Amino acid sequence: MKIFKAMIPNEVWPKVVEIPIVNLNQLKDKGIRVAFLDYDNTIDIDRSTAPSDYSLDCINYLEMNGFKCCLVSNAKSSRSSVIAKELGLPSVNCAHKPRTDGVKRAMELMNATNNECVMIGDQIFTDVMAGNLAGCYTIMVEKYQPKEIWYVKIKRPFEKIVRLIARF
Ligand SMILES: [Mg+2]
Repeated sequence: MKIFKAMIPNEVWPKVVEIPIVNLNQLKDKGIRVAFLDYDNTIDIDRSTAPSDYSLDCINYLEMNGFKCCLVSNAKSSRSSVIAKELGLPSVNCAHKPRTDGVKRAMELMNATNNECVMIGDQIFTDVMAGNLAGCYTIMVEKYQPKEIWYVKIKRPFEKIVRLIARF
């Protein structure tokens, strides 16, 4: 049961830039000040090798609203660290989500505790679970683009089942 609960995000929104400002303010009232961002299909197209304007929009939106951002990606360091550098963000690469070690590394990097951090991502079985299991607030966003790599695609029907059962 505990593991099923870890699959349920605190909030779901279509896009990062569509998280209402009033909700972001509520997070700040709770003491949340750091946003951990998944990269692929959360703030950019899946497997992108260079950041797009959309990813910058997402980061600007969160920063403008008072959050410090950190990339927390399962991508290999060779891709993810280059992207983070171009975005001017700290990053944890090879984060092993849904394991919590990457999220914990990100907390150390950002000098923050679990209840000061929100994990934002497009996948239940990686981003949402890692965030919840690490004790962070979690926001799921819908995948940015339909196109994605096969090993993500095969997980989507299982996500649908979880979303049907838990109604989100
Ligand atoms: Mg993703």
